[in-house]
Amino acid sequence: MMLEVSSLLSLPAGLEIAEITETSDLVIVHVVTTSPIKAYPLCSEFATHVCSYYTRKVSDLQWAGQHVQLLFHVRKFRCDTATCPRKVFAEHLDSFVEAWARQTKRSHEAIEAIGLSTCGKGEHDWLTVWV
Ligand SMILES: [Zn+2]
Repeated sequence: MMLEVSSLLSLPAGLEIAEITETSDLVIVHVVTTSPIKAYPLCSEFATHVCSYYTRKVSDLQWAGQHVQLLFHVRKFRCDTATCPRKVFAEHLDSFVEAWARQTKRSHEAIEAIGLSTCGKGEHDWLTVWV
């Protein structure tokens, strides 16, 4: 039985691994969105035109002691509605990463749990959050 790498990483539905590369101290996972088109936040029309992409770097839980960086290739959509108050919007990854966050929710929760259980004391190099 072959294990899918996507299931190993436990990505939410709509996110898929495109490529995995590594450096001496970092595993880099390129993630693309596969969810269907989204509705524009202000005019509620369905987005049909991807006008560009941007890359968002987010740290995730370590794999066997290796730092993991997720590179999301996030879609930006352009609205064709002439009266639309927002012509361009980028899709959100809210179920997995908060807006403007530099780490995944699960990474934040893990670090927070360790911090709470140790009352923030101790000298743990492995707790160092890097971005
Ligand atoms: Zn619109």
